[in-house]
Amino acid sequence: MAMLAFGMVAILPLVIGLIIAAVVVAVGVAVIAASLSNAGRDADDNFCEEPVGSTDTTCPLQVRWVWDAPHTTDRKRYVNLPASFDAAMNGREVELAGHVEPRRSGETVTFNVIANAANDAEAGAATLASATATSGAEGRATVRLTLPVYGGAKFKVGGKTSHQEQPAESGELTVWRKVFYHITAMEAAPDGTVFTAPADMIPEIVAAFDPVFFELAPGTTSQSTTPYQAHLTAAQRSTLENSLKPTVRDNRSPFKMNIVMVDAADIVGEQEYTGAATAANVATPWFAHWRHESTVIHAKYQTGATWTDLTNVLVGSQPGVPSNVQVTATIPGYATGTTVNWKIKVRFRRGRAGGWGGTTGTLFMCIGFDRRASASRPTGADLQQALTHETGHALGLVPTTASWRDTDPRDNGYSLRHCGYLDTATPAQPRCVMWYMLSSAGTGPRNRFCSSDRPNDCAHFLCRTDYSTINWI
Ligand SMILES: [Zn+2]
Ligand SMILES: [Zn+2]
Repeated sequence: MAMLAFGMVAILPLVIGLIIAAVVVAVGVAVIAASLSNAGRDADDNFCEEPVGSTDTTCPLQVRWVWDAPHTTDRKRYVNLPASFDAAMNGREVELAGHVEPRRSGETVTFNVIANAANDAEAGAATLASATATSGAEGRATVRLTLPVYGGAKFKVGGKTSHQEQPAESGELTVWRKVFYHITAMEAAPDGTVFTAPADMIPEIVAAFDPVFFELAPGTTSQSTTPYQAHLTAAQRSTLENSLKPTVRDNRSPFKMNIVMVDAADIVGEQEYTGAATAANVATPWFAHWRHESTVIHAKYQTGATWTDLTNVLVGSQPGVPSNVQVTATIPGYATGTTVNWKIKVRFRRGRAGGWGGTTGTLFMCIGFDRRASASRPTGADLQQALTHETGHALGLVPTTASWRDTDPRDNGYSLRHCGYLDTATPAQPRCVMWYMLSSAGTGPRNRFCSSDRPNDCAHFLCRTDYSTINWI
């Protein structure tokens, strides 16, 4: 019994001890539970939305600037065109948009312009209308950037809140210019020759205009035809240009050029041949046939002080050289043994024009000669040099005041000049598409605007010129 009693006595403290221990454990659990519960609230208040364990999350809460599409991607900006054509792509002034995250109003966002380190020294700066903005509804804010006109200049905008050490960079904007084209084809000639443009004509000139940041796009109306004319003199080109303008004008005017595919617009020359005949029949030398007007202006012989018309005046083709002719004639009543002065004045083809163009926006491509030689000629590549050259004139090359103009007096009568740059070969060769003559071996530099004499060369002129005031068609 005593043992039992002892035993019972002995057990009692253990039971009490267990009860105390249970109470302590219960209190401890409650404290821990309360602590965990508080920790959960802290997490909700102080942690960003990234999942636990995110390596780029710093705390406490950060509000950060994020650009909205499409300002997140690199884009072209056609600075010369009116915003009314396409507000998302055109004009020097660009509105970029973004928002703060988490989205909340009243956050101050600071902006900075980030010019591309490779920008040309001439490119100029892009400017912000305001260096800061305050986020509004949904955390949104915008900033206006004004780009310079310089083709190829590239800029980003940085935006950051006070919580960000580094700004978030927008996509890069590159200054481009765009012009529109229309193609007018002559109706077929009586001999069946057709004057449609080769399908690759425009694609062939892209490689010359990409480096100077010009894009060519078809106008809203971009094709039409005009009745056949065998040849266009300067006056006829002007008349045709004006008559075509109403059909070319559209909602892309006045940024449109009209590329008119014509038979011929060659250059006529006049020459008087003279001689002292000791026989009845006289003849001029062979010369290039001018097929658009009568060849002979006059053909006369002298009797005393009087000049009288020769007879039997004929124009004959040179055997084997069909593009050449001569004039033959007879001195009527020629007396054997006498010497008779004669003079024959003719028109001849002084030059075969590949194209004509100027600042007015109408460009003539003279393709009849090639098209008669082959229905598949000229190709786009064949026309590349002439079309690039005439478009270059339409864009103002080469100004009469430019240091790199060709100073040959030949150009003195022109409103624009040609490029005078030559390479170092012997003999020196032209190295620019704005050289005054086309090259039959037209490859390489002859197909491009010269660019190695910055800023005084054709490419840099095209880059720095403000083309927002183009007034073509
Ligand atoms: Zn020219
Ligand atoms: Zn040049």
